Amino acid sequence: MTKCKRMGEVPELPEVETVRRGLERLLGSTAVIRAIRLQRPDIRFPIPKELPRKLARQPVTGVRRRAKYLLIETPAGILLSHLGMTGTWRLVERGAEDKHDHCYLDLEDGRRFAFRDPRRFGIIDWIEAGGEAAHRRLKDLGPEPLGEAWTEDYLWRASRGRKVAVKVFVMNQKIIVGVGNIYASEALFRARIRPGRPSGRLTRAECGRLVLAVREVLSEAIAAGGSTISDFRHAGGSSGYFQNSFRVYDRGGEPCTACGAQLRAGALGGRSTFWCPRCQA
Ligand SMILES: [Zn+2]
Repeated sequence: MTKCKRMGEVPELPEVETVRRGLERLLGSTAVIRAIRLQRPDIRFPIPKELPRKLARQPVTGVRRRAKYLLIETPAGILLSHLGMTGTWRLVERGAEDKHDHCYLDLEDGRRFAFRDPRRFGIIDWIEAGGEAAHRRLKDLGPEPLGEAWTEDYLWRASRGRKVAVKVFVMNQKIIVGVGNIYASEALFRARIRPGRPSGRLTRAECGRLVLAVREVLSEAIAAGGSTISDFRHAGGSSGYFQNSFRVYDRGGEPCTACGAQLRAGALGGRSTFWCPRCQA
């Protein structure tokens, strides 16, 4: 089933991971940067002026992801980018440049990648070699949801004494990264936890279920190639996937797939929230 895409949702971790894999595939292990060309001095924030000088003639040694940041690695340092709401990395033909292309990454093999971002919520930044852990955009981030540090024990300890609603809590990037609005709703449904529950009231078993549910929904979304993002394009320029297999997200008023009860819609922390009043306690 496909549904209309919702405006205002941003690329979440699965979409960013899909872009990372696309970039990794396209850049391969032999790409060498010829030049970085900045088409404007800023996107959401100023782009470091030294970027073109630092990255000229640097070989690409890897493409990683931390939270929703894409990290293109070179011996000199890392080109960090964030897609914001409408950002894309795409392979472009010469002569097919667009006014929303803010940064060009030209390779020695003649290929050109463009960072295009019409709404300009994206970020391009520079990390000096060895400076990743202390970098201002990365230093306060919580563990990766698919990494080893995201455990029942971690969530249990982190949530003790916290009154904030569990959905708001798991969307806090200092607690855990990459769980945006869509996947927070989906994970809480699978874990059978109501989104408005105070975090500190979760039982240890519920913490375990939620950790597992977050891993599952993100892993499945990555396997499906991301979800329903407006303006989203994979690295390389092909259209994104718009598959919709959400159990609760954007389905307020529809019957629950598990029990048939009418799903609820509301707001928490200023974000739309969906849950089943019978399955989620
Ligand atoms: Zn239900």
